[in-house]
Amino acid sequence: MLILVVNAGSSSLKYQLIDMDGEKVLAKGNCDRIGIDGHISHKTHDGRQINEDCSFPTHTEAFEKLVDSLVNGEAAVIDSMSEISAVGHRVVQGAEVFSETTIATDEVIDKIDELAELAPVHNHAHALALRACKKVFSEDVPQVVVFDTAFHQTMPPKAYMYGIPYGDYEKYHVRKYGFHGTSHRFVSAALSKAMGKDLKDLKIVSCHLGNGSSITAIENGKSIDTSMGFTPLDGVIMGTRSGAIDASAVTYLAKKMNLSPDEMSSYLNKQCGFLGVSDVSSDNREIYAAINNGDEKAQLTADMLRYEIKKYIGSYAAVMNGLDAVIFTGGIGENSWEVRGGVCTNMDYLGIKIDFDLNKTVRGTLTKISTPDSKVEVWVIPTNEELLIARDTLAIISK
Ligand code: AMP
Repeated sequence: MLILVVNAGSSSLKYQLIDMDGEKVLAKGNCDRIGIDGHISHKTHDGRQINEDCSFPTHTEAFEKLVDSLVNGEAAVIDSMSEISAVGHRVVQGAEVFSETTIATDEVIDKIDELAELAPVHNHAHALALRACKKVFSEDVPQVVVFDTAFHQTMPPKAYMYGIPYGDYEKYHVRKYGFHGTSHRFVSAALSKAMGKDLKDLKIVSCHLGNGSSITAIENGKSIDTSMGFTPLDGVIMGTRSGAIDASAVTYLAKKMNLSPDEMSSYLNKQCGFLGVSDVSSDNREIYAAINNGDEKAQLTADMLRYEIKKYIGSYAAVMNGLDAVIFTGGIGENSWEVRGGVCTNMDYLGIKIDFDLNKTVRGTLTKISTPDSKVEVWVIPTNEELLIARDTLAIISK
């Protein structure tokens, strides 16, 4: 049975076509730089590739291109879309409406789109991908949605509550939900396998660093705290999101700039972060390209990210009363030696020492980058949310 998994992010659309007999990936790729210009990298299981600049004004064009790449041309892996039994989609925010994986009916897609106010950069992109998918596939191909909030439901109230009146929490459901749950679940399981240790015996800080970033404390295999909050805006500085900011600074800025709540939300989610501070780009690679050209605001942006990640690692080591491993994953975590190296510099008090030469060579491969005498193991672990989504999708359509 073939399952197509779609992971539509704010500027990227990763996909995998997985044969569930043996969980073999037939083809995978990434349509990235959506909304900037566009590029597809597509690779088949037998090494055929497409690397092509494209025009991706929105996710719809990116999705159409990935479908075309699966069916037509030199790197096609199937003759017809009818060979695909189901499509599984990653969805960032399920709030309290969706507590488990579900079939994506038109009503469900509309609801996901409505929830976009809680995840302004992501949920609308998911809805676009779902609708584009429905246009391409026949009605009898189930579309399944897997929510990123589920893994963090194990957080204790002291971690997920904000200091607001309890009645307001009950009435409006305002609390920390956390995101990237599928990724944190996947990489922590992969870490336990790589270390040869039971998850129950590990205290882990998992750093998913991409266009959106979240850092999670995982104890006994469960999320006990995470950097993203009620929405994916909270935590460390991101591509276009501010990350954590004093709520009074938000109301002050709104008054000064005469912004409505929606405009303020759009400002914080789309105009801030790397893009806002550096005035260069939301893209980590372009930030480092600018640093190499002596750009001081790009340098400040990079320094802020590395400093904030360090603080999360330290605070989560404190709440877990120990630390066995740090994971770097996501587009930045897997590929940016500069970010990993900066975070792991001067961390010997916490027992973190990495091999800086080895770190420089690691891009997207499962690798232990800590030195043999480091008390805390540091790993680069490519995330595979797609595989977990495919398994969830298979489970729901097999019911
Ligand atoms: P994601 O949201 O996980 O797709 O990650 C996107 C981020 O990863 C962007 O900021 C990219 O600049 C960054 N990224 C992707 N590839 C690399 C690379 N080879 N080196 C540095 N950063 C990268």
